[in-house]
Amino acid sequence: MSAACALAEAGFVVRLVERRGYLGGRASSYLHPGVGEVIDNCQHVLFGCCTNLQGFYKRIGVEERIHWTSAMTMIEPGGRQSVLGPSWLPAPLHGLPRLLAAHAFTLADKVSLARAFRALMKPVPADSNESLGAWLKRHGQTRGAVERFWRLVIASALNAEIDEIAMPYAAKVIRELFMNSAFAGSMGMSTVPLSELYAPVAPYLEARGGAVLLNTSVEGAEWDEELSQWVIETRSEALRSDFVVVALPFEGMAKLLPALPAAEGGDALAAQIKRHEHWPICSVHLWFDREITELDHAVLLDREIHWMYNQSRLQDRGGNYIELVVSATRAFAALPRDQAIAQALGELAEFFPRVREAQLEKVALIKEVRATFGVPPGIDASRPGAISPWPNLFLAGDWVQTGWPSTMESGARSGHLAAEAICAAAGAPQKILDADLQPTGLMRFF
Ligand SMILES: Cc1cc2nc3c(=O)[nH]c(=O)nc-3n(C[C@H](O)[C@H](O)[C@H](O)COP(=O)(O)OP(=O)(O)OC[C@H]3O[C@@H](n4cnc5c(N)ncnc54)[C@H](O)[C@@H]3O)c2cc1C
Repeated sequence: MSAACALAEAGFVVRLVERRGYLGGRASSYLHPGVGEVIDNCQHVLFGCCTNLQGFYKRIGVEERIHWTSAMTMIEPGGRQSVLGPSWLPAPLHGLPRLLAAHAFTLADKVSLARAFRALMKPVPADSNESLGAWLKRHGQTRGAVERFWRLVIASALNAEIDEIAMPYAAKVIRELFMNSAFAGSMGMSTVPLSELYAPVAPYLEARGGAVLLNTSVEGAEWDEELSQWVIETRSEALRSDFVVVALPFEGMAKLLPALPAAEGGDALAAQIKRHEHWPICSVHLWFDREITELDHAVLLDREIHWMYNQSRLQDRGGNYIELVVSATRAFAALPRDQAIAQALGELAEFFPRVREAQLEKVALIKEVRATFGVPPGIDASRPGAISPWPNLFLAGDWVQTGWPSTMESGARSGHLAAEAICAAAGAPQKILDADLQPTGLMRFF
């Protein structure tokens, strides 16, 4: 979507071909038949530092539909709350007063976190092969800091175990969310279901001569040397095009590869894709007969469920709809449905006692086993750029080389990079990538 809209703005006539009946891919919403409600396949959050995702939202005119917040409430079992967030101090000290006041961390935890943050003032070299787990050991992090901050906040943002995360990615998340500026770390959430957020994409492309083709699966492609055009095979028709962006997840690209013409570099790309691995995210969607909390969202400590989103408040919809998210936990993803729901409900009651009196009206469990790709040490060697082994065919998707982990921002960036590559190949180079946010305060000097 980001590539298509940027290219349409640049003057190309773009057809966006999507296998499903709605837009959004892994970040979408749909009518869940079991509960009769439109739900996101999972809560998706963005941050102030996600400049290309915001650039895409601005292009299609939906940036006002994002609700921003800078406070992160952490709750311990039993209900005690701590709130992290910015103060008037300049970056990177802006989060310090609330961290120092947080009950969730002991004095030793706070000292060890402050030490780690100080070490991260110096950027981690991009080619470092150290894992986050090894780095935390080397920097003497306490058990509380590891469990309640590094594992819960950082590893869950990167959706993997701490030993499976390359330190440059962890450092990027820390610097962007907690150090560079107060706005970079603000959290954004859509106030409407995700696919509704993208509703302007089709009219945007149509107004510029293009179209969205839903329920249309790409099965293969041939290069017409004579006309210098691609012939894209779908189940219903063949589409001709001067340029193609293939914006699939890595396993989708692997499936398409055998249906593309042989090309030098095709095997190397296949080998890169093989090195990628999926991580799951599960979400439990609960409707109660009464409100169980006035909070919009919270981080839940020391239990299997990690995040609580109060969707009735965030999306301004009726009922008492709570969504719980469990990231990076293969064990939870393997639980049978009833057991997973019972565990989530039991844990929720430890944080919000009103759950015990409330009636559960309906529930949906969504297990996305292919939610994200991991970013273990060395993964960058397996992230190709936008240029592919084929003429006039460019790669996008969150897994291509953007420097970002598996996020909507990485997807949007990859689309903008592919759009830039097409403009250059068409002889009209232009800048499409949105610039990164500049660090503020003292971070300008680091
Ligand atoms: C449960 C869950 C929670 C997440 N939480 C967050 C979060 O909080 N914040 C965040 O930033 N990111 C989050 N992510 C990650 C984020 O959703 C992805 O990084 C992002 O959506 C990737 O976008 P993409 O366009 O690269 O790929 P996709 O979204 O996978 O899009 C690929 C598209 O290609 C289509 N397609 C596949 N094969 C074909 C074919 N043959 N022909 C035509 N179309 C095809 C698919 O239907 C899909 O629409 C989460 C992901 C999941 C699953």
